[in-house]
Amino acid sequence: MSATTTTTTTAARSRFEDFPVKYLKGVGEVRAKQLKEELEIDSVRDLLDHFPFRYVDRSRFYMISEFAGEMPQIQVRGHFLNFSVEGEGKSQRLRATFTDTSRMMEVVWFAGIKKIREMYQPMTEYVLFGKPTQYNGAWQMAHPEVERYDPQRPPTGFQGIYSMTDTMRKRGMGQRVFQKIMSTLLEHPRYGEIAETLPAPIISELHYPSIRDAYRQLHIPDNPDRLRKSRERMKFEELFYLELQILRYSKRRNHQLAGHVFSRIGQYFNRFYSDHIPFELTGAQKRVLKEIRADMRTGRQMNRLLQGDVGSGKTLVAFMTMLMSADNGFQSCLMAPTEILAGQHYETLRAWGEKIGLRVELLTGSTRAKARREIHAGLLSGDVDMIVGTHALLEEKVEFRNLGLAVIDEQHRFGVAQRARMWAKGKVPPHVLVMTATPIPRTLAMTVYGDLEVSVIDELPPGRKPIETWLRYDTSRAEVDRHIWRQLQEGRQIYIVYPLIKENEKLDLKSLEEGLERTRQTFPGVEISFVHGKMKPAEKDWQMQKFVEGQSRIMVATTVIEVGVNVPNATVMVIENAERFGLSQLHQLRGRVGRGADRSWCILMSKSKMSATTRKRLHIMTETTDGFLISEADMKIRGPGDMEGTQQSGIAFELKIADLTRDGQIVALAREMAQRVLAGNPQIAGVPADDAASGSIQPMPLDAGSLAILASELHRRFSKKIDWSLIS
Ligand code: ADP
Ligand code: MG
Repeated sequence: MSATTTTTTTAARSRFEDFPVKYLKGVGEVRAKQLKEELEIDSVRDLLDHFPFRYVDRSRFYMISEFAGEMPQIQVRGHFLNFSVEGEGKSQRLRATFTDTSRMMEVVWFAGIKKIREMYQPMTEYVLFGKPTQYNGAWQMAHPEVERYDPQRPPTGFQGIYSMTDTMRKRGMGQRVFQKIMSTLLEHPRYGEIAETLPAPIISELHYPSIRDAYRQLHIPDNPDRLRKSRERMKFEELFYLELQILRYSKRRNHQLAGHVFSRIGQYFNRFYSDHIPFELTGAQKRVLKEIRADMRTGRQMNRLLQGDVGSGKTLVAFMTMLMSADNGFQSCLMAPTEILAGQHYETLRAWGEKIGLRVELLTGSTRAKARREIHAGLLSGDVDMIVGTHALLEEKVEFRNLGLAVIDEQHRFGVAQRARMWAKGKVPPHVLVMTATPIPRTLAMTVYGDLEVSVIDELPPGRKPIETWLRYDTSRAEVDRHIWRQLQEGRQIYIVYPLIKENEKLDLKSLEEGLERTRQTFPGVEISFVHGKMKPAEKDWQMQKFVEGQSRIMVATTVIEVGVNVPNATVMVIENAERFGLSQLHQLRGRVGRGADRSWCILMSKSKMSATTRKRLHIMTETTDGFLISEADMKIRGPGDMEGTQQSGIAFELKIADLTRDGQIVALAREMAQRVLAGNPQIAGVPADDAASGSIQPMPLDAGSLAILASELHRRFSKKIDWSLIS
């Protein structure tokens, strides 16, 4: 065993990787605090792990005469010739001619006009950095970064661009500062101490760069080739440890962990099914219930992902699964990501439970202390049969007499770690059913979730009126407004949704507020709910509640409403700037209407000018309402890397660099390598080697030094997160 693992904790704590960033030159208390608050960066390692999300070519100056085709972000060097202000008020813009002697191009600004005019002098040489585009046959650059040309300053080469928040930018923490901090870090005398994180045999077999080289290339690349190899290494590493952890635990689970045996279908299930079920189950619901039932009687703990499109009736399946738990003498819980959603589930489940004599309770962050105590007591004594709630269910104080089943709705809003906390709620782990409307290809789900089983509800309940989807440009706004009026007059409710994308929170909030104002003016006297992500939860809930209860008739909101709210009286979903949403997101939003017996509409509003790809994407929405088709089409048009399904699935949230859809080959490689490592070193799983599984794989036995690396990395990456692979 190498010396590093036997050192004392004090020595371990002083590893350079664990250094607080505030001690780095150029950081200090204030910036350290910002980094912590905005990006959760604490240590040197966190900083190194904050990878650029794209790269730009600052390796040289381009000539305007070389511009051609689709250009990356590049830099040009030259002079401003003249400035002119055009237009009035909002449509005002500043134009300048810029020349590098090879040719001229136009530069435009739509904001900050006064300041810019004062700042830039005609006789000074500047470097502009931006993306050249063609406009009316001429080259143009909009809102470039501008700085004085400094002959002393060497070209910075390929450069990483980091994700950052508006708050940081506002406080002077821009790309430049961040890049500077990063280069200081890479030059630090102790940088060379950073310890390798992959076993040497793997590195040499796969011809990967060392961890120190990889970090360096990722932040300040020498050339595209070395950058690519380094990114590959980091992706592999991330996926390798993920796979290793998943495999370890599934091995362990198979060896040790028994689940509750739900052997019977009993009185609750049968009585509900024969006397109280509100509608005939669809074929898909029946099939899925059979799959679940078969799984829960094996004596192995169930881990099942239930995928079903929006409106496919997952709640009923959840409830009937909970009845199986009750029939076998166990309690069950249903956890939802928001209070509203929990409240709605509670109403549904309580009404159904009442009919057959089951006690259902609701527990959320706003449950009053007295009620809370009673519920806690009821859960402990077993008087409460089913509990619906939010994260509040995860608190340690929430103890069950015998929890047999945990259902988790809309899993992509829950971190993997939170799911894992359910695990600790009983001596024998409960069966787990995770429900999601996000379609993730089955093979992918199996790979990343280990031995998770997948059930799919691929059929909607009968009698649904299909939602009509319109694609409308700003020019047809009057028509859309008239349509909304007619629906309001018929007593219906309306959603109007705006995008909110992190990169420019300020602008987004502005357009949302303008939208609210416009809606107020267009529909005077109509009560409006207004909801966005930056609101206090209590305020948000109150606004939502008003809409759910029908007191407000229009909801103007950002995508916070995306998940799960059920207002059958809402018949129109207007989506503003629809081109800025992903297709899966549009699909989810559309699923908010068409929940009642009435005809419903989804209206995608968009600027009339858009690229062919965007038009094609939006067009798909008007052609189909099948979520799986939509996600397939999305994948074809945009390439799998942009597919939201995996972005949204809880696990993808925790990946820093790998992309589950795009990096399929690396996933496979990582999995194979993890299998070989486990086969060669069964002690990693903590269970005896199982010969059956290792037949076809070539074991990779590791020496003590490599094993120490594995132990330390598994600990670092997963210890805080409990045994999460047991549960997802
Ligand atoms: P989701 O899968 O999106 O969570 P829900 O469970 O909320 O969908 O169900 C959507 C609507 O369909 C609800 O109003 C529910 O009562 C209804 N529903 C569920 N199953 C059926 C069925 N078999 N037949 C008719 N309506 C159903
Ligand atoms: Mg639902």
